[in-house]
Amino acid sequence: DFTSCYFTMNEEDAVEYAKTMLDIFDDDAELTCKEIGDGNLNYVFRVVDEKNGKSIIIKQAGPVARISDEFKVSPDRNRIESEILKLQGELAPGFVPKMYKYDPVMNCCVMEDLSDHQIMRTALMEHKKFPLFADHITTFMVNTLLLTSDVVMDHKEKKELVKKFINPELCEITEDLVYTEPFYDCPRNDLLDETRKFVQDEIWNDQQLALETAKLKFEFMTNAQSLLHGDLHTGSIFIKEDSTKVIDPEFAFYGPAGYDVGNVIANLIFAYANAKFTIDDEGRRKDYMTYLEETIKDVIDLFKTKFLAAWDEKATERVAKYPGFREYYLDSILKDTAAVTGLELCRRIIGIAHVKDITSIEDQSKRVRAEKLCLSAGKTFILERETMKHGVDYVKVIRTFA
Ligand code: ADP
Ligand code: MG
Ligand code: MG
Ligand code: MG
Repeated sequence: DFTSCYFTMNEEDAVEYAKTMLDIFDDDAELTCKEIGDGNLNYVFRVVDEKNGKSIIIKQAGPVARISDEFKVSPDRNRIESEILKLQGELAPGFVPKMYKYDPVMNCCVMEDLSDHQIMRTALMEHKKFPLFADHITTFMVNTLLLTSDVVMDHKEKKELVKKFINPELCEITEDLVYTEPFYDCPRNDLLDETRKFVQDEIWNDQQLALETAKLKFEFMTNAQSLLHGDLHTGSIFIKEDSTKVIDPEFAFYGPAGYDVGNVIANLIFAYANAKFTIDDEGRRKDYMTYLEETIKDVIDLFKTKFLAAWDEKATERVAKYPGFREYYLDSILKDTAAVTGLELCRRIIGIAHVKDITSIEDQSKRVRAEKLCLSAGKTFILERETMKHGVDYVKVIRTFA
């Protein structure tokens, strides 16, 4: 019985759920199911009607994180995820999966199956190119970030959204895992012995860096600027040649807009480090690294252009029209973008949650070099965030350490 009390589903339960709780499949459907989750927090069931190939995804929030039961996270995040996907689908049509149902008893949601797309991290590790990605993701970010801000929204309506998506538990995970633990010798960190000495010298012993991370942590916790995705890494993006879909917004809350942009950039840099140390053929390696540099540059520059254009078109706030305010506001987003790029680069090497781009590098000495590239670039992005104004500034930093 799915209507009275929450329990964690297995594959048979998910089939039963699809039969009895959803109005999607035919009565004589032959349903099969596989759990395909690879994330840290949730269970993802793909249910298929073997008769006609029709399929859906059921995503259920478990009571504790899969990565470690130290993280007790409210199953309410599933409500946040389904409501955010609906909202983002309105703000940025075509860039998120369709939501069919949210079930507050089972803490699950039912959505469009995107199995004809590929998780972007996997695709980048296969060294595939997506020429439309920078255009797609910047439209998604400008629309979801600017249109939920006080620049565009009625301030009272915006505050209602702040309340609705307060998300304290998932925010705490970010506050700890991104902004705090990687920057001291925290027992929960998880780093290679060969990388530890470098981290000790370059990261943990740097007082200035510690101070900057403290400032940034409080910026993250107190700047209710835009309704963020909150976890916009390449594992939260489904992609194919002509389509980009953003999934998994369970960390959504009102925070600094640059948090999402910086996450995208940092994860492109992980792909860059992967390419540098795994593609043997020099011509192919250089070609792919150049493609990623261009993509990083385009994401920053297209974000800026589209942001300013959308501001002119959509701003409703009176003071938004004062000369210079638009540029001042974008400037502070760009600062945050550089800082978060740096934080994400460091925390995925030092902290508890890693990225496959780096951990899959089999040759240990190459993996250590890739990790040092990410850490050195990361530190530079944090410390020199005020100077990162254009896409080319990012490429310069990456090239310095590559
Ligand atoms: P988590 O919050 O646990 O990280 P995700 O939403 O990222 O969960 O989903 C985990 C995995 O499940 C994805 O990497 C993808 O392989 C698969 N998945 C999630 N949503 C869909 C979908 N709509 N269509 C197809 N596969 C999906
Ligand atoms: Mg995920
Ligand atoms: Mg995932
Ligand atoms: Mg998730």
